[in-house]
Amino acid sequence: MGIAEKTLSLKASLPSGVKLVAVSKFKPSEDILEAYNIGQKDFGENYVQELVKKASELPSDIVWHFIGHLQTNKVKLLVPVVSVIQSVDSLKLLKEINKEASKIDKCIECFLQVHIAEEETKTGLNKEELYGLLSNPELNAMQNIRLTGLMGMSTFTDNLTQVQTEFSTLKQIFDDVASKHNNLSNFDFKELSMGMSGDWQLAAQEGSTMVRVGSTIFGNR
Ligand SMILES: *Cc1c(COP(=O)(O)O)cnc(C)c1O
Repeated sequence: MGIAEKTLSLKASLPSGVKLVAVSKFKPSEDILEAYNIGQKDFGENYVQELVKKASELPSDIVWHFIGHLQTNKVKLLVPVVSVIQSVDSLKLLKEINKEASKIDKCIECFLQVHIAEEETKTGLNKEELYGLLSNPELNAMQNIRLTGLMGMSTFTDNLTQVQTEFSTLKQIFDDVASKHNNLSNFDFKELSMGMSGDWQLAAQEGSTMVRVGSTIFGNR
């Protein structure tokens, strides 16, 4: 199967209400175009320079999601081309995104990345940090960002029970945050981004609204 067929077949197997972000890191623009040509519009990238370069080569109606670790000094480069930043893990980063977006009169959708995995290496906010950030009064003044969801990555393991538990924990946090913090003007919690090539079925079962799938579509990196 080619990239177009793989994308179509994956889309057909997603439960209704679950969106697909095709993760294209390290893959050439031609590969992205193959998926785009059968109607895939949402693509995810992990590196700022790579995303910016591809955005300049590819159709302008692609919705770019940034899903990698983001350094404050790269925000300026990223903001003009990106629609969604799924990997926000600090107030400092949110402020910088808001600042750069306000300069060009743009609004960026931001997901907060939550650490649900066992591994120390995976980035993201723990539960306390998440709630701390969400109760910071400075958030209200940020006119050029919208907090629209949470993103999480499970532990890389064959233990499906553990992965399932991590996803269901994130879903609980999502529901709790969505009900508690809806008083903020720039708050519109609707997306729960969880699930990758190896675990998207479990994630969808546990309440994911958005899966980020790379290798199943584009092959191994
Ligand atoms: C690379 C990556 C993915 C896609 O991973 P696959 O296993 O190739 O589907 C999803 N989310 C994040 C944050 C990634 O870095």
